[in-house]
Amino acid sequence: MTNNRFADIILPLAVKGRFTYRIPENIKEEVKPGVMVTVQFGGRKLYSGIVCSVHDKSPDIKNVKPVINVLSGTPLINESQLKLWLWISEYYLCSEGEVMKAAMPNEISLNNFKPRLETFIKLSGKFSEDELNEFLDKLKKAPRQQEILSAYIRLTGYATGTEILTVSKSLLLSESHSSAGILDVLVDKGILTSISQPVSRIPETDSYKEPIKQLSEAQSVAFESIKSQFREKDIVLLHGVTSSGKTEIYIHLIEEQLKKGKQVLYMLPEIALTTQIILRLKRHFGEVTGVYHSRFSDPEKVEIWKRVAENDPLNSYRLILGVRSSLFLPFSNLGLIIVDEEHDGSYKQHDPAPRYHARDSAIMLATMHNAKTILGSASPSVESYNNAVNGKYGLTELKERFGLIKLPSIVLANTREAYRKKLMVSHFTPELLQAMDDALGKEEQIILFQNRRGFSPYIECSECGWIPVCIQCAVNLTYHKGIGKLVCHYCGYTTSMPSKCGNCHSTGMVTRGFGTEKIEDEIKIVFPAARVARMDQDTTRNKNSFNKLIRAFEEQRIDILIGTQMISKGLDFENLTVVGILNADNLLNYPDFRAHERSFQLMEQVSGRAGRRQKQGKVVIQTSDPANKIIRLVLRHDYVSMFRMQSEERMTFNYPPFCRMVKISIKHKDRTQLNYYSDILGRYLKEIFGKRVLGPESPVISQVQLWYIKTILIKIEREKPPAKAKQLIIEAIDRLGKEKGASALKIAVDVDPY
Ligand code: ADP
Ligand code: ZN
Ligand code: ZN
Repeated sequence: MTNNRFADIILPLAVKGRFTYRIPENIKEEVKPGVMVTVQFGGRKLYSGIVCSVHDKSPDIKNVKPVINVLSGTPLINESQLKLWLWISEYYLCSEGEVMKAAMPNEISLNNFKPRLETFIKLSGKFSEDELNEFLDKLKKAPRQQEILSAYIRLTGYATGTEILTVSKSLLLSESHSSAGILDVLVDKGILTSISQPVSRIPETDSYKEPIKQLSEAQSVAFESIKSQFREKDIVLLHGVTSSGKTEIYIHLIEEQLKKGKQVLYMLPEIALTTQIILRLKRHFGEVTGVYHSRFSDPEKVEIWKRVAENDPLNSYRLILGVRSSLFLPFSNLGLIIVDEEHDGSYKQHDPAPRYHARDSAIMLATMHNAKTILGSASPSVESYNNAVNGKYGLTELKERFGLIKLPSIVLANTREAYRKKLMVSHFTPELLQAMDDALGKEEQIILFQNRRGFSPYIECSECGWIPVCIQCAVNLTYHKGIGKLVCHYCGYTTSMPSKCGNCHSTGMVTRGFGTEKIEDEIKIVFPAARVARMDQDTTRNKNSFNKLIRAFEEQRIDILIGTQMISKGLDFENLTVVGILNADNLLNYPDFRAHERSFQLMEQVSGRAGRRQKQGKVVIQTSDPANKIIRLVLRHDYVSMFRMQSEERMTFNYPPFCRMVKISIKHKDRTQLNYYSDILGRYLKEIFGKRVLGPESPVISQVQLWYIKTILIKIEREKPPAKAKQLIIEAIDRLGKEKGASALKIAVDVDPY
């Protein structure tokens, strides 16, 4: 009698657990860990799932359903990927299926991976030069056909006895200013032949190879310090001021790993940043360098995925530059992970699950590969610096800028005083205007930072104070002048600009506050001769818009670039000398225990864009509160004092890194029902965790897309392993789920909310 075989399978569902299916005899050989299979789940729905193990333990249910078929001959997911999925699901309290959804490009395209084909043209035979001249002669009456043939000869350099080379059809047509119809005639005559060949979907950037730069003395010391700490520690924090040349140090570390035949993952928080760094990396490492982010289409992602998985020395990517999801690529042999700008909040995924932190997950991934991790930042997160100070991580500090250029000088511009003295020109202080004027006079470039997009954050009736709000969310609508509409930044709801007040019908609607769009408008009035551009979510919707804007700024076709946090990080521009921070107040006043840390990091970072090459840059910070203690620290670039101050505060009030936090958000479409159920959950949790439970309370935005929201925060002691506490939290939520009517709730758990 043959034993029954079973497969445990991960399905792309929010349901916890793996699902067991019977393996029919005829596909027994093919079903193995990592392959994708089709199975039926629930009613009649078919799903593609990933096999994680194969065994002969019959599950405790009757009628175990069979695996229907195998979609991929070879495993798509390797063992360490499966381990990472499991870790993320356990740590961040979600299902492996949710991790699978975030981790894989569209399942279907992973299976039919069809290469992209392009048409190429070649000579039909090894014609001699005499024969070719005869063809050309005969074509005298058809000059456009003649032109195609001569363009082919020109492009390939064909002569008697040389190899027959192919030319892409589109290049040949553009070179000969000809059309496909005319080319077809030459093909029909048997002179040229047309063939289809697979080509990469990933555009190759032209890059000349360049030797790696020699490190300065300070950089060499840092480089050696990192390597010697790696002998004892797996993680090193590189705290280096902006433009100290951290990237160059990474490049040296990467080179060593590639030489050893290892793979390297280089993570960045923002797609905009990949544009510049990819060029720097390709210049040194050439074709083994690939980039990965969410702007790629599924077929493009699949190609990158395969080029990471395969072991072809000519075609595989061994150095990947990517944003947080690059963590999920099929690495088999990682030697090093670099998490640049490690403090950045974009590393944390908020919605949907898995709500993972890519920095912390990267550390886990590195452990699974026995690889090292380097965290880099000019202003590390309090968490990471604390780990370094405690000796859990190694610490390397780089305190000078490359070329010994001074850190930018910072000027505070007091907006309250300037308004009072009527010195403001629109939203600009005399200090900022002066600095800009100086820079423009010297043909230097400027960045203006404002962390709000759109024209104005809200509009208001000047008679009665009525403010239009979203019909689905508890937020004011932002006015976007370019499209002439009011937009909700939470749900995307859009409506036309009202001509009258919705309350008193007066016609006096006025715009309040300012976003990047307004700054752009007004700067054009103040500096009519300057070339101005804007970089924010609204101007970078197209795939290549980042690249275009960054290139235009690099090539100095833009004098003033206005932007949101997108322009604040990591970018390196030669001729940029002045940075203006238009409103520091709205950064500092955000109600979150990390607001001060974040505003320090943001200001330090955006300042760091100024004066990176030849001379010291200048930063003007506009604020109504120049005595603010965080601003005073930014003024002195004093990270360590900021760290000490924040640590003390967090120790006193018990916040991370001195405790762990789990945030539960509960949503219901009815406010009363929400209050009722969230109170119950609060009670259940307090029975277990007592005073460690805060809330339920209403968050700042208490309704989004018609769902009312309440949050509960649980603080868990750092000293104890968190698994038990997390288990109890899940049990409390499950207990709430058994209450009558609780199925109308949406509950999300966020571990280490960020
Ligand atoms: P960071 O990553 O710390 O902000 P970068 O690595 O971008 O700093 O370095 C800042 C600038 O200085 C870059 O333009 C970089 O090319 C240049 N640079 C850094 N180190 C060297 C070096 N050793 N030799 C030549 N140029 C360097
Ligand atoms: Zn009104
Ligand atoms: Zn809305």
